[in-house]
Amino acid sequence: MHSLLLCVAVVLTSVAASQVEFPYNLPPTAACSILKAIYPNNKLLPVDAGYVNETQLSWDTSACLDPACVFAPSTSAQMSVAISTLATLRTKFAMRGGGHMPISTAANINSSGVLLSSTNLIQLRLLADRQTVSPGPGNTWGKVYEYLDGTGLSVLGGRLGPIGVPGLLLGGGISFYGNEYGFASSNGYIRAYECVLANGRVVTTTERNRYSGLYWALRGDENSFCIVTRFDLKPIDAPNTMLTDATYGNGTMVKKQWIDSIYNFVMQVHKDTKAAIIPVARFGSGYCTSRPKEALNIVHDTLFAGVEAQLANGIGYPQRPVEIPTFWTEQSISWSRAEDDAILEHFKSSVNAEINAKLEVIKATSAYLYLSDASENQAVFQSYPPENLARLKAIRSKYDPTMVFTKLMPGGFKVANA
Ligand SMILES: Cc1cc2nc3c(=O)[nH]c(=O)nc-3n(C[C@H](O)[C@H](O)[C@H](O)COP(=O)(O)OP(=O)(O)OC[C@H]3O[C@@H](n4cnc5c(N)ncnc54)[C@H](O)[C@@H]3O)c2cc1C
Repeated sequence: MHSLLLCVAVVLTSVAASQVEFPYNLPPTAACSILKAIYPNNKLLPVDAGYVNETQLSWDTSACLDPACVFAPSTSAQMSVAISTLATLRTKFAMRGGGHMPISTAANINSSGVLLSSTNLIQLRLLADRQTVSPGPGNTWGKVYEYLDGTGLSVLGGRLGPIGVPGLLLGGGISFYGNEYGFASSNGYIRAYECVLANGRVVTTTERNRYSGLYWALRGDENSFCIVTRFDLKPIDAPNTMLTDATYGNGTMVKKQWIDSIYNFVMQVHKDTKAAIIPVARFGSGYCTSRPKEALNIVHDTLFAGVEAQLANGIGYPQRPVEIPTFWTEQSISWSRAEDDAILEHFKSSVNAEINAKLEVIKATSAYLYLSDASENQAVFQSYPPENLARLKAIRSKYDPTMVFTKLMPGGFKVANA
């Protein structure tokens, strides 16, 4: 049986390279068996130790699902075999990096498919000329920063250690250095992506090589195009950093001072482009006595009336957020009981509809939605310039004509569905 499966797998990978579909509708366990036959030590069935760690590590507990099996390749060649096998068998799958996208099916899948894990893609290298840092997608930003500690260099990455490298970079990437350098994926701070295409080929994309269209698309469009197996990042000089986490209590006076401080910071931000803040207003017992809906409106209205930031950096990437003074808000709402989902969903949609309606009255809405922080039902790609969305769709069709990364890997925001 073992050798038969191996034989089937070899045939499958060559069939996949020629984009021919397997004529049978097999359950995902068939792909699991084939991958197990080829890589007996590298695949985790539900009964195996380690399966739970792989499937339950998401930041959002609703993303802890039970895939038919987990495959954790350690090289791009192994990833290529996995993609070829899954594409040929038409088996559904999901791809997980650091598991921090707070959407249940973005980076995991239930028993209808296979979870590809980046756990073993943990290569991390600073090249001798100190011009390139190359993390595999299994790294978290904490690992990357630890690795660079003492070198005087850093990279544009996440503001919390546990966030995964791939999801953040594929969404754009807001770092502590965004004020000075823009998105982590913009302005050449990603030199190259190594990735596995839908037909199993491993390619390296750069701004100037024959895959430059794919390079452009990967700077803000997540997972519709390929699976990235290595990022080549351009480091920045960061000899010293200072971080503080200040808390100011609550009450009307604190709120006023807090908003004034943010306003002043933004007004002066061009004077110190190395500075960054994450203003957080927490609503909940012990944090705030006012009602959340009112407070959100106050924050929006007050800031929108006053913020005049410097222009956003760079326009040569798919998202192209509008280059006028703008502020983005992210609402992070946590709850513990699944029974409350409907209440919270209603809260989110009704409050945001009200906020948007009020902002529209004063013509203060901004179309752009940041993919990495967007909610599942937000139309992220429709917020991009239409010509960029059209270009993204064309690039997607070119590199994945059989829609492997759209139909077989349904999780996440999909260019083709926009
Ligand atoms: C607590 C918290 C703090 C955050 N802070 C920041 C911040 O400071 N700056 C910021 O910009 N964002 C931030 N985010 C948002 C975060 O960047 C996104 O959620 C991002 O997707 C997380 O990356 P990940 O690898 O952990 O995600 P995952 O959930 O593993 O993956 C996200 C998406 O990327 C796809 N993907 C993963 N790996 C690959 C790959 N190798 N190839 C192709 N597709 C892949 C997945 O299929 C999935 O659709 C934060 C989120 C949380 C929960």
